Amino acid sequence: MTNNLLRFIEIDQSYPNKREPNSRKNDFGEIYDDYSESAALNQASRCSQCGVPFCQIHCPLQNNIPDWLMMTAQGRLKEAYEISASTNNMPEICGRICPQDRLCEGNCVIENGFKSVTIGSVERYLTDNAFDNGWIKPVKILEERSQKVCIIGAGPGGLSAAEELRKLGYQVDVYDRYDRIGGLLIYGIPNFKLEKSIVERRASLLKESGINFYLNTEVGKDISFEQLRQDYDSILISTGVYEARDIALPGVGLSNIVPAMSYLTASNRVGLGDEVINFSNGKLNAYGKDVVVLGGGDTAMDCVRTATRQGARSVKCVYRRDRVNMPGSLREVNHAEEEGVEFIWLTTPEAYIGQKKIEAIRAANVRLGSSDSSGRQSPELVANSSHELKCDLAIKAFGFDPEDLKNSFDQPNLKLTGWGTLSIDFLSKMTSLNGVFAAGDIVRGASLVVWAIRDGRDAALQMHKYMQGLLLNREN
Ligand SMILES: Cc1cc2nc3c(=O)[nH]c(=O)nc-3n(C[C@H](O)[C@H](O)[C@H](O)COP(=O)(O)OP(=O)(O)OC[C@H]3O[C@@H](n4cnc5c(N)ncnc54)[C@H](O)[C@@H]3O)c2cc1C
Repeated sequence: MTNNLLRFIEIDQSYPNKREPNSRKNDFGEIYDDYSESAALNQASRCSQCGVPFCQIHCPLQNNIPDWLMMTAQGRLKEAYEISASTNNMPEICGRICPQDRLCEGNCVIENGFKSVTIGSVERYLTDNAFDNGWIKPVKILEERSQKVCIIGAGPGGLSAAEELRKLGYQVDVYDRYDRIGGLLIYGIPNFKLEKSIVERRASLLKESGINFYLNTEVGKDISFEQLRQDYDSILISTGVYEARDIALPGVGLSNIVPAMSYLTASNRVGLGDEVINFSNGKLNAYGKDVVVLGGGDTAMDCVRTATRQGARSVKCVYRRDRVNMPGSLREVNHAEEEGVEFIWLTTPEAYIGQKKIEAIRAANVRLGSSDSSGRQSPELVANSSHELKCDLAIKAFGFDPEDLKNSFDQPNLKLTGWGTLSIDFLSKMTSLNGVFAAGDIVRGASLVVWAIRDGRDAALQMHKYMQGLLLNREN
């Protein structure tokens, strides 16, 4: 039954309505409206059902996209949702924040000439629709197992593993130092990309599935890692990467120079109704300020767009390479430009200037020189090009490194890579400690939600195999 497909020739690509910049700048709500049912069905029907589905190949979860697009086009929305959810623990979240332009949609074969199928928006519609219809239920366990699993970190990696292990009947305890479930989905990613109610809805479902959460509990501080090893049959470390990278520039001690995560966390907390002292006293609030964000990744994009919404007087993004060579998603750059952010390409900061508070940034122009070993052109300073940019809030978004878990978990035998991430066996996902597994950013370095989900699922399967082995050994 393919009569509802291959319609890319007659139906144009159409994303859900994007709110006007002047309206969306005034609040933190998501910028895209929902598809109507007919729009979702029509857009899904543009799929060409090509023989080799590059969308699926380029999805880290290998989501069976052509099949759920076909079901959607035929109005079989429940089946479509079930296929989509069979490979993805959070399709409503991936539908909203995956960089589809670089993954599934960027590799859609009709992209050349007809513009890709709007895969992410259909995925979001399918899952929201399934929630609205009550099709998404907490995990039901056929047979409880007595073996206990500990997951450290309630971000997308840890949560996906927790759900997969719970489906298999394990007793699952998740520890997190934050007071809410979701990791960067709650405290990193702003509402205009992913509203918190979407994350909270998923978290409630996991709680109703019988997964136990111990929040405000930092492993290595409130409870020792060694204690957890004694209490549980298997452990997953999915603690993400949080050490802000920095550049030692003159004037770095001036006030109003802040790391990106402190700034975004404060804004997200305020949105959630928390009292944040450094927001109320203006230190982490862009209102009325000339803001300069340093860096060109997705975190920098989230900062500039947050500052715009907080009512900054001006918002600039300073990045040492050009638009083509920036790490952030071009889709996000376009959103930021529409919202009035000024991008200053090929520019690097040299010093922070001011008396007590920052008043300006001294910056210099850069040209892209010869390529380095990775093929990227290296930035080279242009002589005598120093100039000042007015600034009374500087936000540093230079990237993240892992915390030193060997030290904070007091585990000298925990093997790290040269980058400080956890070293795991490629197949078994196990760290150098027996029965201790790892997933997500703490293994890959700062990456994507979809990769954290993939890693969490893979680790859960390997933990299951490991615990089956423990049982067999006990029986023999
Ligand atoms: C600002 C920002 C925007 C982003 N935007 C996007 C985007 O649009 N799309 C996308 O795909 N990706 C995005 N990412 C990346 C994405 O959020 C991460 O790749 C993903 O969240 C990693 O998941 P994780 O589970 O490995 O770690 P995290 O989400 O970081 O979760 C780790 C959890 O571990 C907890 N933890 C850490 N140490 C301990 C400890 N010792 N004891 C107890 N708990 C601990 C933390 O509190 C946290 O809750 C963004 C990242 C940032 C910073």
